Amino acid sequence: MPFHSNVLAAIGNTPLIRLKRASEETGCTILGKAEFLNPGQSVKDRAALFIVKDAIAKGKLQPGGVIVEGTAGNTGIGLSVVANALGFRTVIVIPETQSVEKKDALRLLSAELIEVPAVPYRDPNNYVKISGRLAEELAKSDPNGAIWANQFDNTANRQAHIETTSQEIWAQTEGRVDGFVAAVGTGGTLAGTAIGLKEKNSAIRTAAADPLGAAVYSWIKTGELKAHGGSITEGIGQNRVTANLEGAPIDDAYEISDEEMLPIVFDLMQHEGLCLGGSSGINVAGAIRMAKEMGPGHTIVTILCDYGTRYQSKLFNPEFLRAKNLPIPPWLGNKSSTIT
Ligand code: PMP
Repeated sequence: MPFHSNVLAAIGNTPLIRLKRASEETGCTILGKAEFLNPGQSVKDRAALFIVKDAIAKGKLQPGGVIVEGTAGNTGIGLSVVANALGFRTVIVIPETQSVEKKDALRLLSAELIEVPAVPYRDPNNYVKISGRLAEELAKSDPNGAIWANQFDNTANRQAHIETTSQEIWAQTEGRVDGFVAAVGTGGTLAGTAIGLKEKNSAIRTAAADPLGAAVYSWIKTGELKAHGGSITEGIGQNRVTANLEGAPIDDAYEISDEEMLPIVFDLMQHEGLCLGGSSGINVAGAIRMAKEMGPGHTIVTILCDYGTRYQSKLFNPEFLRAKNLPIPPWLGNKSSTIT
């Protein structure tokens, strides 16, 4: 096909890229799915497209209607891309702790942005719950209708990965994939891709890569939701079993600290030209752990979730990292290299 009829057709079908150092270190083939190449620059474009298509098919959205969502940013960006292409509006509720770059991208895309304090899910003023109530109110007042995308518990999210991500990985590896690792925000990517891959071959090993401070690791390892520690990563870290995670065939989990993640992100940038966010680093760290457990010769796939410039003010900001006592990119932190 010489051209796409609109931007929506450019979502998905992302390349798999061999990660050189991770592969050499483990003797495996470690492949990253380049989700940062989606039009909204993250893996969440896939879920956004499926959620909106599902709502349209069910007659819940009319032209000019509103899509409301609570999001750490990327789902809001994906929804805004899809909404703009199809003639809807977006109202996005975001915790104020999220990066300024993601908020700017949302404003740029003409989303109506509502910043709220970051409070735990059990609090009625959690961003997800606020977005649900707001959608209900707008559905009553907006003549064109309003939907709550509800990415955490709307399984159109994981359906996107059952129907697209897992099928692409299977085809791109010619069925030679041995393992799949992904971090969990909603769980849509991990659960949907795991379901799709296991349908092809039930021996494919699946695992969550979890940042400290999230409870998915302990849930998979022991069946109990327990969290400890904290992480600077955004968009991941879940403390409950979402509808998207429910019943997913996940074999294992790895717990990854910021200290383990950051050097991987910096290394991929400096030595492989891959500019990525923190959750991609968590994923690659998880893939390396799985590769070491499985031994040389295996093919492990993971997700390169979003583009690094989305976190320039945090992950790649020496002051921010220094204040948290975290590693600093050598080429940014070494002031003596500046020519005076
Ligand atoms: N990485 C980033 C940067 C994200 O924004 C998200 C989604 N919030 C994820 C990973 C996790 O994806 P999922 O919601 O499918 O678990």
